[in-house]
Amino acid sequence: MTRSEQLFERAVKRIPGGVNSPVRAYGAIGESPRFIEKADGCYIYDVDGNRYIDYIDSWGPMILGHNFPSVRESVIKACEKGLSFGCATETEVEMAEFICERIPHIEMIRMVNSGTEAVMSAIRVARGFTGKNKIIKFAGCYHGHSDAMLVSAGSGVMTSGVPDSAGVPKACTEDTMTAVYNDLESVEELLRKSEGQTAAVIVEPVGANMGVVPPKEGFLEGLRRLCDEYQALLIFDEVITGFRLAFGGAAQYFGVKPDLVTYGKIIGAGMPVGAYGGRKEIMEMVAPVGAVYQAGTLSGNPIAMAAGLTQLKYLYAHPEIYGKLEEKGDKLYGGIKQILNEKNLPYQVNHISSLASIFFTKEKVVDYTSAKTSDTKAFAEYFKAMLKMGIHMAPSQFEAMFLSVAHTDEVLEETLDAVRKYFV
Ligand SMILES: *Cc1c(COP(=O)(O)O)cnc(C)c1O
Repeated sequence: MTRSEQLFERAVKRIPGGVNSPVRAYGAIGESPRFIEKADGCYIYDVDGNRYIDYIDSWGPMILGHNFPSVRESVIKACEKGLSFGCATETEVEMAEFICERIPHIEMIRMVNSGTEAVMSAIRVARGFTGKNKIIKFAGCYHGHSDAMLVSAGSGVMTSGVPDSAGVPKACTEDTMTAVYNDLESVEELLRKSEGQTAAVIVEPVGANMGVVPPKEGFLEGLRRLCDEYQALLIFDEVITGFRLAFGGAAQYFGVKPDLVTYGKIIGAGMPVGAYGGRKEIMEMVAPVGAVYQAGTLSGNPIAMAAGLTQLKYLYAHPEIYGKLEEKGDKLYGGIKQILNEKNLPYQVNHISSLASIFFTKEKVVDYTSAKTSDTKAFAEYFKAMLKMGIHMAPSQFEAMFLSVAHTDEVLEETLDAVRKYFV
C-alpha cells in the first residue's frame, strides 16, 4: 500500500469521504487520491515521492507557479507581525486601492474568505440594491455552495451525481431561475416571464465548471443589453477568470462591463480570500454604510492580504504574462487538438488562454447539455494514464486545466508527448 492509500484509509474514517472538498476524492475516476507533500513551480510531489506536472494549480491561484518566491516571502514577513488582529490594517486599504485604481468597473470592493462567500454576498447586495428577489444563473455554472446557487451547479455536483443538494430548502432556490449558457433567448424568456422581479443575472463569463465553455461571440454583450433593458444587475463571477484572462479579468478580455464582480482563487495567491466589488452606489449598500449586512471575523486577514496583494502587484507589473499564457495555451491545447486530429479522434478541445478541457464527445460543447454528452469513462481512463505518466490533471471531465507561468516549453512538450503516447 502506498502512503497516499494509507492516509486515505485513515482520512475516510474521520473526514466525510476522506477530503475537505469533494472533487479531491477522485470519486469520478475510481482512484484513491494522491496526498500532496509539497509543490514548486509547475511540479507537485506526493507523499510517496512521486513528482507530477501539475495542471490543477490549486484550481487557479498558482498562476505564477507553486511556491512563488516573492509571495512566499511576503507571507513570512507578514507572519512575523502577528496572524490576525480583527481590526483594520493598511494592507487591506492598499489591496482595495490597488484593484479599484486599475479595474475601471470596480469602484469599491469588500474582502471575504472564499468565492462562495463572495457570490453569496454579491447576490444579497444585488437584491438589496434593486429591491427584487429573482436571480438568473446558467445551467452548468458553479458559483460556490451557498443555498441559492446550488441549482444545476456544474462540476462537483455533476460528477457526484447529485442533481442539486439535500439540505437546501425549496424556499432557498425558489427565486433562482436557470437559463441555458450561450443562449440569450433563454435569458430573455426568463426576464420577460418574471418582469420587474429579477435582481441580477450571474454568469461565469467563461464557463469553467462544466469543463471549459467559452462564451459565444455576442453572448456577454447580449447579457449586458438584456440586463439594462430589464433593469437587472449583471454579475460576473470572475473567481476563475479574474486576473487570469487579463488583469481586469473576463470583463477586460471581452470588453463587457458588469455591475458587480466576484473574485476568489488568484486574488488570495493560495490563501483563503474572496472579494466582491463594483459600482460605488451599489457597494454603498453594504454595512456599515448601507442596509445589506455582511461581515467576517477573518476577512481581510493580514497574511492573506499580503500574499494576494504581492501576487496582484506582480501580475500588474508584468503584463507580458498574459501574452505568454495565451502562447502557452495555444502550444499545449492547440497541440492536443492537432494530436486528436492526426489520430482521427472526434473529441472536443475547448480552449481559451490558459484554460482548457478535452471533452470525450463528438458534439461541439457550448452549454451544459452538450458537455454532458461526454464519455466520462473515457475521460477517467485518460486521466489515469496521464497520472501514471506523471501528469496531474483535474480528476473530473467537468473541471478545467490550468496553465501557469511556470509551465515551460519543455514541460508542455513533455505533456504533449504523453498525450501522443496515450492516443495511439
Ligand atoms: C471556485 C469557484 C467558486 C467558489 O469558490 P470557493 O473559494 O471554492 O468557495 C465560485 N465561483 C466560481 C466560478 C468558481 O470557480
